[in-house]
Amino acid sequence: MREKNRYKILISACLLGERVRYDGKINMLNHPLIDSWLTQGWLLSSCPEVCGGLPTPRPAAEIQKDGSIKTQSGEDLSDPFKKGAEHTLALAVKFNIKVAILTDKSPSCGSSQIYNGRFERSLIDGQGLTTQLLEANGIKVFNQFQLTQVQTYLNSLKCT
Ligand code: SF4
Repeated sequence: MREKNRYKILISACLLGERVRYDGKINMLNHPLIDSWLTQGWLLSSCPEVCGGLPTPRPAAEIQKDGSIKTQSGEDLSDPFKKGAEHTLALAVKFNIKVAILTDKSPSCGSSQIYNGRFERSLIDGQGLTTQLLEANGIKVFNQFQLTQVQTYLNSLKCT
């Protein structure tokens, strides 16, 4: 039972400095709350796109109007994105995780905004595929700018 509840927060691997971004760059999130959660062993990292079998670096991909996920050259990556989302959900379920912090604007991890699918660096309201799947399964997703809300949400779960 303790093993099942070992982690409290699922987090995008790139936010912990893992070199998994499509462009191979580091995207480390520095914040005292992250340090505190790391010290307590609460964070479980996942990169849905790498879990889905995609390499790093990889071509940028965006969600299209029809829901598919394609690169600018038209390669359809919907299957690996779906596989990665399912793998990430399975991890959350395995460890009974109810909260996630995912990187906004990503076609996998975005929670408030994503790119418009036309590779114009233009944002629209929307969610990435992994975020959609986690939320559909009752896991609350926050982005990397909402860490104090995450702490408040965790506190509220303790009270229920
Ligand atoms: S898929 Fe998510 S975890 Fe992986 S690099 Fe993109 S934003 Fe980060």
